Amino acid sequence: MAFGEEAGLHRPLADCVGGVIASIPEDVDLAQALSDRETTDILVHLLDQNREQVERALARVHEGAYGLCEDCGHRIPAERLRYQPAATRCVECQGRWDRVNGRTA
Ligand SMILES: [Zn+2]
Repeated sequence: MAFGEEAGLHRPLADCVGGVIASIPEDVDLAQALSDRETTDILVHLLDQNREQVERALARVHEGAYGLCEDCGHRIPAERLRYQPAATRCVECQGRWDRVNGRTA
């Protein structure tokens, strides 16, 4: 699946944290590159934009599971986290969840 399909949707988030995340080399796993503290700072900054999802992501940080898909358990690609730091599912599982829950964003 082409990542670009959803990049447009999450552009505001990317703009918001781009300065932090852009400093991380492409080949470094985002969840490993950021400390829990840094990850929490980024997510808290996003709270007013997407509170429900950000709170889910924060819970994942506390569980030590940030960056892992909560449905299939696979690592969420760094490219996805780069654009949507609050993501708690991989693209595939999120797409399925969105369909089941009738969400489009
Ligand atoms: Zn998944």
